[in-house]
Order: sequence, then C-alpha cells, then structure tokens
Amino acid sequence: MQVLCIIGDSRSGSTLLQALLSRRPGVVGLGELRRLELFWAENRDCACGAPIRACGFWSDVMARAGLADRHPRTRPPTWRLAKLLGEAAAFAGHVTGMRSTSRLLLPHGHRVTADIARLYRAAAERTGAATLIDASKDPGHFLYLDQLSGLDVRPVLLIRDGRAVVWSKIRRTGIDPTTAIDHWARITRMQLALNHRRRQSRTAIVHYEAICDAPARTLDALLADHRPGPAGGDGPAGDRHHIGGTPGFRLAGDGAPHLDLRWADEMPDDILALFERRAGRLNMRLGYPAGRRAGITAPAARAGGPAGSAAARPLASA
Ligand SMILES: [Zn+2]
Repeated sequence: MQVLCIIGDSRSGSTLLQALLSRRPGVVGLGELRRLELFWAENRDCACGAPIRACGFWSDVMARAGLADRHPRTRPPTWRLAKLLGEAAAFAGHVTGMRSTSRLLLPHGHRVTADIARLYRAAAERTGAATLIDASKDPGHFLYLDQLSGLDVRPVLLIRDGRAVVWSKIRRTGIDPTTAIDHWARITRMQLALNHRRRQSRTAIVHYEAICDAPARTLDALLADHRPGPAGGDGPAGDRHHIGGTPGFRLAGDGAPHLDLRWADEMPDDILALFERRAGRLNMRLGYPAGRRAGITAPAARAGGPAGSAAARPLASA
C-alpha cells in the first residue's frame, strides 16, 4: 500500500485531484484525514451524506483500526509552539533523511501518527486499495507521517497560480487579501522546501493547470508506482466517503476537469498589484507569468514532473 499525501493551499484543486485519482481502479480517496478527529467529535457529515458515526464505511474503518471505543487523534498539537517545534524537527529529519531526528518530536506527533497509520491500514484492508489518497493538504501532517509512520507515504505538492488561489478565497469567504496572499506564500515556500528532497523521497510536484490541461498524462505520472491487485475487501470506494473538501464539488459525468481562470478577468487591479508586490516573484518562480496572463511558462517545466506538460497559454493581456 502507498499513500499519496496531497500538500498545498486550499482552493488549489485538491478535491478535484482526489476525485480524478479515485476513478482509477484500486485508488481510494479518504479526504482530509487530518480533520477526522473533528468530524468524529462533532459527528459531521461524510461525503456520502450520512453523519460520520452512522456511515458504514467509517464505522467499519474505525472498528478495524481498533479505535471504535475512543476518539481518533488526527490533528497536530493545538498548542502553536508544540506544533512548530514538532514540525521543525520532522522537517529536519526529512531534509537530512535521518529518521532518528524523529526522537526529538513531541509525544503528540507519535500519537497522531500511530492513529493515522492504523486508519490507513484499516481503510486499505476494507477496500482492497493499493493506493490511498490523503488530501489533508497540511505540510506538518505529512512531515509527521513521513518521519514516524513507517509507511510508504509520498508527498504530492499541488501548486496553483497564486492569483487564482487568492481570488478564489476572497470570492468565497471575503478573506482579507493580505492574509490570503501571505498564507499562500507561506504554504508555497514550505512546498519548495519539501521539493528539495524530491529525488530521494519520491516527491511529486503537480500543477492544477496541468491536471486540467492533460489529466490522463498527469494522473499516469502520479500513479507510476500504483499496482492495483485483485479487488479485496468491499471493493474500491472511490472517494464516496471522503472527509472535508470543497462542499458541493461534483466531477462532470465524463470526468473532464474544467480549468477555472476567473481571476484573470475578475481580480481587481489593486488586489492584483498587492499580490505582485507581496508574492509576484514567488509566483513567477513557479512558472506563472506576470500581469494578467494565465498559464505556465518554462520554469515550471524545469521543475520536472507532470508540470512540464502544460504549455504557456496567454489568455488575457494586461
Ligand atoms: Zn460515508
């Protein structure tokens, strides 16, 4: 069993990517597993529509994981300093390739990782999945798993044009533009730091725009080591029971993703200028052209991986 752990900012297309991957035989999307603790405590709805404690899938997975009689622990420490220290130690271990660094991790990291590893194994056992998708998105979540789980957990760095991410957040939630821009920049810098070890740790880097532009090729690259066995358990559940994600998201019947570039037409000039000042260089480093042009240019191709498949495609001039 391998786990593809999606890492990126929200509004980057993780629900879409998970939905597409979960259409492949032997792939099961679990959603934002990091939030299971919260969903279980508040009995929130699973994607299947049932409250999670009434959902047959999760009830069975929890029982198989030996967690039926207590609450699962899937969240990093809520104490901010503990979270930062734990993640810093895990990152050091990731970069140096020395898991002994994990000894420095605070106990909470061990507890969380142990519960998540049990949940992964239980979900794979129930569904017969050869690949699980964990769309938690949080870099810290991956770092704990990478250092402590002993499982084959691979980071999938999901990148999207920062202007599209920021505009999508502002449109949906009315978030303050500076906050949205700085958050995107912080997550992106962590992605780039994780990418330093891509060769050793089998890190994949994938652009949202490439997923929409060439979905089959992009998914093939991400699933290069996926070996679906004979269906076991109850058979693949796709992503019918995923946790969290974009509310109301539905993949079109033919599975063709729709590239959302509304920011290029809708983003006000002052917010675009603010973005350019605070994060424009970083966005260009990812391969996105400046101004109001959308698409990916050469630097993304140099980053390697599926990102290289997307050609520059100017859609609107400044
Ligand atoms: Zn369900």
